[in-house]
Amino acid sequence: MSILIGGGSGFVGGELSKLLVKNGLKVILVSRSAGSNKITWKDLEKNGLPKDCSGVVSMAGENILNPFKRWNEDFKSEVRSSRIDTTKALAQAIMEAENKPKVFVSMSGVAYHKPDDIKEYTEESSGGDYDFLSRLTTEWEAAAKLPNSCNVRQIVVRTGVVLGRNGGMIKQIYLPFYMGAGGKIGSGLQWFPWIHVSDVAGIFAYAIQNENVNGVLNAVAPNPVTNSQFTSSFAGAMWRPSIFPTPGFMMNALFGAERGKVILEGQKVLPKRTLEYGYKFKYPDIDSACKEIVC
Ligand code: NDP
Repeated sequence: MSILIGGGSGFVGGELSKLLVKNGLKVILVSRSAGSNKITWKDLEKNGLPKDCSGVVSMAGENILNPFKRWNEDFKSEVRSSRIDTTKALAQAIMEAENKPKVFVSMSGVAYHKPDDIKEYTEESSGGDYDFLSRLTTEWEAAAKLPNSCNVRQIVVRTGVVLGRNGGMIKQIYLPFYMGAGGKIGSGLQWFPWIHVSDVAGIFAYAIQNENVNGVLNAVAPNPVTNSQFTSSFAGAMWRPSIFPTPGFMMNALFGAERGKVILEGQKVLPKRTLEYGYKFKYPDIDSACKEIVC
């Protein structure tokens, strides 16, 4: 039995692939480039799902916080199409497949919810209509929707900031923190909806392998922290100070105000349904996650 992962060659996909292989499943990636155990998006469009495909995962997406890309209409369109068009292509292949996979798990983000210092959001909270990124998650989730007649179990995983040594945000901040030049970003009081990469992979695998799991799951740790709490925990795990704040205007200058918000504002998101389904977090608190990342 194999699991097809669109965008599985990256940071999260690499961790998920390792876990699925460890659990005895075969993994095939859908990628922009050809390679072993990979098909391209063109192959998918032409030939459909590979034989004996029992599950499909959608997680392709241009990195929103790519510091080398200016936040303009062209880049926004790339951010959008790299998620929506790839997810639609996977959904289309599932709809056309004679032998349907059992499950379709699709990535989304906690940007679905409006940043707020007080509100708590769970999977049941409304959202998805606040700004560009929030509307993007709505479209992304809609692209993954299959008709009920397909009879395929569907899960959407709304993911927070993924922490791990080999990618995502940590890759960008590791060196400044290691040099003792790290610190809070903006006021530091904003929520920082985080999750360790092993747990994102764990939640995807749990959704694939447990037949009772359905609907939206939040992939955030059960113990939320603010940006300040995260920076002191991360610097503390490295035995470094965290006294050099990055002012908000610098983030806005680097990323543009619309995406600078991803870091300067935050949501308090809880994994209510994820816990109710019985998923056990490997790294439920920020100190254990940071210690693992720096060790
Ligand atoms: P990566 O950037 O490491 O990997 C994403 C993959 O998407 C790449 O390996 C690439 O595959 C594919 N991809 C990138 N750009 C494009 C493009 N323009 N068109 C088509 N495919 C593209 O991301 P992560 O593993 O960190 O994240 C995976 C998904 O999770 C992304 O969609 C991301 O938005 C989302 N997410 C990530 C978070 C994080 O903190 N990391 C937080 C919340 C959501 P290939 O080169 O093989 O084509």
